[in-house]
Amino acid sequence: MTAAHQASLFSEDELPDNLTPWEIADQQDRLLAEVVLDRPLSTVFHYVVPEGLRELIAPGQRVEVPFGAGNQALIGYCVGTTRQSPTKRQLKSLTAILDREPLIDSALLKLTQWIAEHYLCSWGQVLQSVIPAGVKSKAGTRELIHYRVSPQLKSQWPDIKLPAKQRAIVAALIGATQPLTVEQLTEQAGCGIGPIHTLRDRGWIVAEQHRVWTTREDESIPEPHQELHLTHEQQAAVNVILEALRAPRHETQLLFGVTGSGKTEVYIRAIEEVVSFGRQAIVLVPEISLTPQTIRRFRSRFSSVAVLHSHLTDAERHQQWRRIAEGHVQVVVGARSAVFAPTPHLGLIVIDEEHESSFKQDSTPRYHAREVARQRAQMHGIPLLLGTATPTLESWVRVQQKQDRLLALPRRVARRPLPPVTIIDVRDDPLIQQQRALGRALLTAMNATLKTGGQIILFLNVRGFAPLILCRGCGNALRCPECELTLTWHQQHQCALCHTCGYECDIPAACPKCQRPGVRYVGMGTERLEQELRTLLPKVSCLRMDSDTMQARGSHATALEKFRHGEAQILLGTQMIAKGLDFPNVTLVGVVDADTSLRQPDLRARERTFQLIAQVAGRTGRGPKGGRVLVQTSCPDDPAIQFAAKHDFVGFANHELQERELCDAPPYTTAVRVILRGPSEPAVEASGHKLVEQLRQAAPALDSSIQIAGPAPCPLFRLQGNFRFHIQLLAKSLPPLQLLWRQVEPGFRPEKDVEYVVDVEPLSYR
Ligand code: ADP
Ligand code: ZN
Repeated sequence: MTAAHQASLFSEDELPDNLTPWEIADQQDRLLAEVVLDRPLSTVFHYVVPEGLRELIAPGQRVEVPFGAGNQALIGYCVGTTRQSPTKRQLKSLTAILDREPLIDSALLKLTQWIAEHYLCSWGQVLQSVIPAGVKSKAGTRELIHYRVSPQLKSQWPDIKLPAKQRAIVAALIGATQPLTVEQLTEQAGCGIGPIHTLRDRGWIVAEQHRVWTTREDESIPEPHQELHLTHEQQAAVNVILEALRAPRHETQLLFGVTGSGKTEVYIRAIEEVVSFGRQAIVLVPEISLTPQTIRRFRSRFSSVAVLHSHLTDAERHQQWRRIAEGHVQVVVGARSAVFAPTPHLGLIVIDEEHESSFKQDSTPRYHAREVARQRAQMHGIPLLLGTATPTLESWVRVQQKQDRLLALPRRVARRPLPPVTIIDVRDDPLIQQQRALGRALLTAMNATLKTGGQIILFLNVRGFAPLILCRGCGNALRCPECELTLTWHQQHQCALCHTCGYECDIPAACPKCQRPGVRYVGMGTERLEQELRTLLPKVSCLRMDSDTMQARGSHATALEKFRHGEAQILLGTQMIAKGLDFPNVTLVGVVDADTSLRQPDLRARERTFQLIAQVAGRTGRGPKGGRVLVQTSCPDDPAIQFAAKHDFVGFANHELQERELCDAPPYTTAVRVILRGPSEPAVEASGHKLVEQLRQAAPALDSSIQIAGPAPCPLFRLQGNFRFHIQLLAKSLPPLQLLWRQVEPGFRPEKDVEYVVDVEPLSYR
């Protein structure tokens, strides 16, 4: 990032000498590689491809290039080749090609270029992030070198005169039925590697390189499944999708189906069609939903499914990438980055739980997988299918404006009703006033459920024991020294932890402010809820799922299986349990504190609260026993909670969109956020003012709808020792903002040690 403002200093990495006429003539038949670097530089650099490498270079490979005045060796990506030099000056030569085959094909290369342009970052950075590390390092493979005899030597054999050891080597090779490795050769010829190299250097024998896998791939075993009879609504949705698939034509389709309406079955039927004509499908799901349950459903229907989740080792990821690229995979199921899966004949992209904010990456490149998928689908002329029970307002507006097509599944399968949702106003509840998590109504409902043998899910989106640690003397809250946010007490690990930056400490012996000892733990986290349950219901077994209990690989799956088999009656946890789970025996869902998400200082706080309640409610009433939902809140009149209780997405969307329109907020406008940070507060603020000034000067000439706000301190003002300010740009559409940034950024020089990042269409304002 520090290098971001260097963009204009190096318009092209070139030597300063002027060329003689001979050199100019010489330039005409040389080949140049267009190279982008993993740096915040928008330039495409040109390097001469040395003679010996001309046959080998291809776009999509990594190359080593000398860069800058000191000729620092950097690794870049070749994105094209040309014979036209962009300059009259002499260019440097690249020094090596690092990959024998391109790492990505030309379509994906184009997609990464689009990301760089759309999200205002560098193409090289996008490539660096999109191509998995294991693919670059070729993890899990080994280079094997085999030797064979060259044709010249063969024609002169056995009359040729050679020293005894070299003769033995050649004899061994000629006698063998296939090329031999160095180890085999030295053994059979009874020699060291010296004579082998001599023969190779003279051209008598030829080395061939191969890569072989050192790991074995796990074969998935298809499981039997029973053929379902689609409902009318499912069939109608499938028909529309098939029509677009057969055309084929690009169209984004929003499958708006309540929880339990059978969206997955619709995806599967569409994918069966795709697979039947030899193409592949990509299915994106939130990482949290990459449960064995989801994976099993796909594996039971398709013979080759690749699963890309975050627990893969580099070698596994590389192997999956290769299997996909070679066309051996029918369906790729994965989290956000699976949108880049190198399928050779992509036929369909599906995004399940389209509303999930984890589809947006929160480090450079800050892409949203839905928008990348839209672009990729458009480039290939294939449909994009978005599924959700709670569409984002962005997607909803696109449907309203007829840019995308709506497919609706308004009812659950088998005519199961959506569960009744009761709002519990906890403001006067005596138990809640005693700092307990479970109020009277929820406790009563839990006891009734347990009596009838039903299972319970309790949702609380705060991990740890208590989110506040207060001094008993002065009431001062213990804060993180790095970012000034309050620390959370973790009983299990006996430490105070910052959930933002990971800072960790013991409880100080005395309050830093008033010097008195002793603290109080205030507020409710999952650990404390678990403790309360053990005290209140000692005979009931409960299972806690949050990122503290679910660190080991596979622990998520094990816990869910336990719950499914009835080994626990209560499942409590954070958002980890809000999504995609399907347990017919769960007849009660309790939202312990709906206000945690409502209180967030964020444009989308209400939208997220609505989604959360609707999703959590979706976890019950899936079996013949039915189910109900209780929502504890101290804001019972909030529209998000009211509409969620009525399962009324359309009502909520209408209400919320009206408010968004009134205050010119997305989706009626498009936002770009610039965050500046550095160790000196005045320097960061001054840089912010300077940038705003430059933006304000340039904006009117571009688009009259551009609004510029800031610089203002970010809600998360300090982070990891840095002070943070942000600037917000708003306009009716994105292109004028992109133009504005491209125009202003090259001339912007922040103060010393101030860095900045740009977030296009941000989802977080922290
Ligand atoms: P959603 O993804 O919309 O929440 P699912 O696809 O998980 O819904 O479907 C809910 C349940 O209904 C699953 O157990 C699924 O097997 C079942 N199901 C889906 N379609 C049908 C159908 N047409 N007939 C009977 N059961 C179905
Ligand atoms: Zn911190």
